[in-house]
Amino acid sequence: MKPLGPVPAGYAALDGELAIAGRTASALVAEGGGTPLFVYSADLIRDRVALLRAHLPAAVRLHYAVKANPFPPLLALMRTLVDGFDLASAGELDLALAAGQAPAAMSFAGPGKRDAELERAIRCGVTLNLESAGEARRALAIAERTGIRPRLAIRVNPAFELRGSGMKMGGGAKPFGVDEALVPALAREVIGAGAEWRGLHVFAGSQALDAGAIAETQGAVLALAARLTQEIGHPLPHLNMGGGFGIPYFHGDRPLDLAAVGAALAERVANLPAELAGTELAVELGRYLVGEAGVYLTRIVDRKQSAGHTFLITDGGLHHVLAASGNFGTVVRRNYPVAIATRFGADAEEEVSVVGCLCTPIDRIADQAPLPHAQVGDLVAVFSTGAYGASASPAAFLAHGRAGEMLV
Ligand SMILES: *Cc1c(COP(=O)(O)O)cnc(C)c1O
Repeated sequence: MKPLGPVPAGYAALDGELAIAGRTASALVAEGGGTPLFVYSADLIRDRVALLRAHLPAAVRLHYAVKANPFPPLLALMRTLVDGFDLASAGELDLALAAGQAPAAMSFAGPGKRDAELERAIRCGVTLNLESAGEARRALAIAERTGIRPRLAIRVNPAFELRGSGMKMGGGAKPFGVDEALVPALAREVIGAGAEWRGLHVFAGSQALDAGAIAETQGAVLALAARLTQEIGHPLPHLNMGGGFGIPYFHGDRPLDLAAVGAALAERVANLPAELAGTELAVELGRYLVGEAGVYLTRIVDRKQSAGHTFLITDGGLHHVLAASGNFGTVVRRNYPVAIATRFGADAEEEVSVVGCLCTPIDRIADQAPLPHAQVGDLVAVFSTGAYGASASPAAFLAHGRAGEMLV
């Protein structure tokens, strides 16, 4: 038997079924046009933003990393809740504009921005977080050619990383950002060329559950920004401090102590280095905002035994929830929070493996998990799939098609 991950708070049972926004899983599937289906709860997202606002210092702006979940209705909701969007492609820029976000509240990071993407961002007035000297020069050349003053910031590749983070995005050789030592000269070059200087972006890692590690990284980011600002010799208008706030996915994971993160940050904000006195601060979060608000619903189409093992075979799979199958940056496969949605709250009665409908052994939703006895027709819920689910899975693989998505 292998334990399941923890079901996030906020999910209740109604008539023996999982309920979201007061509707049962069966009703949601009927309304959403069948399985497989992602359901995102607007209330849970609002609650999460309110929690962040309650704990983080008021001076710190909250940005949403669109790549976590770019579903248009969800983006339209996020636009009303957060202070800015962080983009990673021109495609995300289009989605953000369609959601009504103001270009002045957007920044665009990511390696390998093409000239057409740089030009589009410059024409829209979106801040570019430059990832290299080469990209800076291409942006400046586009500015010169179009006669538009670009809004430019530099993404720094810090010498440190976020301790305990699931995905390391800083520290040592990285395709992301400009190595710290090279930042001052590049910033002076950009400012000297007449660009609007928008500041620095430091993203040191993702999916950290340890408040101490996040607080330590935030301290290091502020100290680094202060030192670089002094070397650059110009005031720093904006500092995107990164984020990295994690959510529990696996058995034994404890939720992040947000109060501790907020208290440590408040202390730092109250005692900012002089170089950052006039700097607008922001954190950028993806999964922490939307991850636990999403549930993937898939229907059991077959139940079978093989060599003493019971398999529940569903109409979903890793083509929609790659991360839950353990194939999105995980070293050891562990079970996500999974439940039988149509028997929600019932006691576990048997050990079963829940698999998807793809013809590959890696398509596993839950491995040797304790679950109530389920039949063909029952719905399976995979929790914590509101971020890096639908848009971060290979939906074209095996041509089963995309999952439905709905915001309720
Ligand atoms: C992916 C990414 C994020 C969001 O990470 P989460 O773990 O979802 O919070 C934020 N900033 C940058 C630069 C990213 O690449």
